[in-house]
Amino acid sequence: MDHASVFEAIDTERDRLVDLATRLWESPELGLHEHESARTLVEPLADAGFETERGVGGIETAFVASYGEGEPRIGILGEYDALPGLSQAVSAEREPVETGAPGHGCGHNLFGTAGVGAALALKEAIDSGLPGEIRFYGCPAEEILYGKVAMAREGVFDDLDAALTWHPGDLSAPQLGSHTALDSVQFTFEGVSAHAAASPESGRSALDAVSLLNTGVEYMREHVPDDARIHYSITDGGAAPNVVPPTATVWYYVRAPSRDEVDRLSAWLTDITEGAALMTQTEVQKRYVTGCHETLPNAVLAGVLGDVMDAVGPISYTDADREFAADLQATLDPERVETRLESVPDDTLPAARKDEIRSQALYDEPLDAYDAGTVTGGSTDVGDVSHCCPTAQFRAATWPVGTPPHSWQAVAANGDFATEGMIFAAKTLAGAALTLFDDPETLDRAREEFEAETDGETYESPLPAAHEPPTDVTERAGAD
Ligand SMILES: [Zn+2]
Repeated sequence: MDHASVFEAIDTERDRLVDLATRLWESPELGLHEHESARTLVEPLADAGFETERGVGGIETAFVASYGEGEPRIGILGEYDALPGLSQAVSAEREPVETGAPGHGCGHNLFGTAGVGAALALKEAIDSGLPGEIRFYGCPAEEILYGKVAMAREGVFDDLDAALTWHPGDLSAPQLGSHTALDSVQFTFEGVSAHAAASPESGRSALDAVSLLNTGVEYMREHVPDDARIHYSITDGGAAPNVVPPTATVWYYVRAPSRDEVDRLSAWLTDITEGAALMTQTEVQKRYVTGCHETLPNAVLAGVLGDVMDAVGPISYTDADREFAADLQATLDPERVETRLESVPDDTLPAARKDEIRSQALYDEPLDAYDAGTVTGGSTDVGDVSHCCPTAQFRAATWPVGTPPHSWQAVAANGDFATEGMIFAAKTLAGAALTLFDDPETLDRAREEFEAETDGETYESPLPAAHEPPTDVTERAGAD
């Protein structure tokens, strides 16, 4: 089977894929609670004869579906969790379907579905004689950076020759940049309550401990690398001014371009919490919510993705798609398009091409990778997969240029024309996997690059030995 036939197989499935993505979009579920979404994606694979394993990594909504046998083994990753509070209709005005309900603001309804489409097309290639195994990984709870980390801890990515993934975005390009490693940790202080005016001497304030911890971290900041990020929110700060707060909880994210640096900064943070507890005569408990590794790009695999994106060609947006996209783009700060274009170097995107992008809300042409050597401040649990096997990702243009992820404009697009970008992504994933199935030499080079990047280190999970899925935190957070 050649690339054209694989693309055709996806075109044949397009209505079904758009329907799946729309079903996920219409019933958005938060991370670790995405039961219906996981079922929606696993069913077509099981029906097609894929062997499925559910509950992977101790998560009820995680699954692996595999087809074929032997080598090579190519994995495709998919996500399907939504974000809290982002409910939005397909409309160019802020219009929640249900106020306060979740919404697909990161496009994971498209993300998971494109991977399923690619896996189904590759099954046909395997049936027509291609040797090897294709695996689709149903990865929950990316927004809190948990799913793939827990799955990686079980070693489910270790025997892959390559893992391929993508993400919705506003421009299409393979990715060569990295994302930060992260620790997400909560500290709960326990003090003694008392009447804050009548008997303050018998109280010990847990909130004071949080304040001193935060002050300590401010002094630490001067001595951390420029590219580290430390941020927090106080999730329990006491109930009333006249009651000395007996408990208080602060939630920290520590990020840096390497796992080692995050470990070092987190250990320092923990020391400060102990100092704060000593100063206030309170007790402190640490809860490790989750953590992840920085992403290791793979230039060999990114090159394969780039070639296939060019072969797939521009995304076929209709005039109606472009009109709606322009209406959505008009609601953004006009500076956003300019800031976005500035983020792409001129040698990837010459001035004339930037003008072309300015003139259309949806940019349909794939670009060359433009982020080599950069580290995005945000994090992704794809990072942990990239430490287990050679991994590559790309972005496909599903949103008007300048659209921020996790915005209502992205939700509106994801429920409408963005499915066209999803079809492009499905073809790219399937085409790249097909290239790799057929080309052991490229897989060897990808492996060599991976070995050089990981420098012989074996993957170690950041999760502590006894760790339960943090099902309670999803409703508060989007960590990526
Ligand atoms: Zn996302």
